[in-house]
Amino acid sequence: MLEKIIIAIDGYSSTGKSTVARQLAKELGYIYVDTGAMYRSVTLYAMQHGYISQEHFDQDALIQNLPNINIRFEVSTVTGLAEVVLNDVNVERSVRTLDVSRLVSVVASVSEVRKKLVEQQQLMGKEKGIVMDGRDIGTVVFPDAALKLFMTATAKDRAERRYKELVDRGEEVTYEDVLKNVVNRDHIDSTRKDSPLRKAAGAVTIDNSNLTLEEQFQQILALTKTAIQNNSTSSCTG
Ligand code: C5P
Repeated sequence: MLEKIIIAIDGYSSTGKSTVARQLAKELGYIYVDTGAMYRSVTLYAMQHGYISQEHFDQDALIQNLPNINIRFEVSTVTGLAEVVLNDVNVERSVRTLDVSRLVSVVASVSEVRKKLVEQQQLMGKEKGIVMDGRDIGTVVFPDAALKLFMTATAKDRAERRYKELVDRGEEVTYEDVLKNVVNRDHIDSTRKDSPLRKAAGAVTIDNSNLTLEEQFQQILALTKTAIQNNSTSSCTG
């Protein structure tokens, strides 16, 4: 039997990482972990407790209260998909608003927040058989992952995708605001001191600007099969 591997998917905002990660996990019978949802949950907690708004950020209060933040995933009986749960409340929908998106990159720049979430993510990957997406999975969380992907697409394509998602969910947003948010988050994520968004050593770049979802999935599935095969061969030969 082929050994299970870890698949690390990083890339810019709204490149469709979670869509492909979900498809892959389903195809392989692996667990999918959306680490963006974890950073979004910490941000929602900070907003709910008044530690952060557009005008201010009480970083010390958030750091002190990190032990009170419990994040886990549960599989929805309706959709069969993993949904994020913050202190026993399902927040899958509320973490996806543009309000949370506007503040999440600032919260994700705090080293103490990253340390807590990275430790939890590493524990989740202990048994392998996991597809994890985020910004630092191939560089920090699982630098030894058997397959690392780096996803990219033009800012315009990405903003269009995210705008459609938000409108479909009933949010009142403008395309310009969404584009601004995507560009701004990428800037903060790529320039922060702790674990900036980078292509990991050995990662394969997937530019999906001109790929259909099916083409992208087939391309990534082929890479995955090779990685699983190579991993089993190398563990057999020691
Ligand atoms: O993936 P998603 O767009 O939901 O991530 C939201 C934000 O969370 C990112 O823009 C980034 O600031 C932060 N993030 C991170 N590291 C990860 C995953 C997400 O810093 N591994």
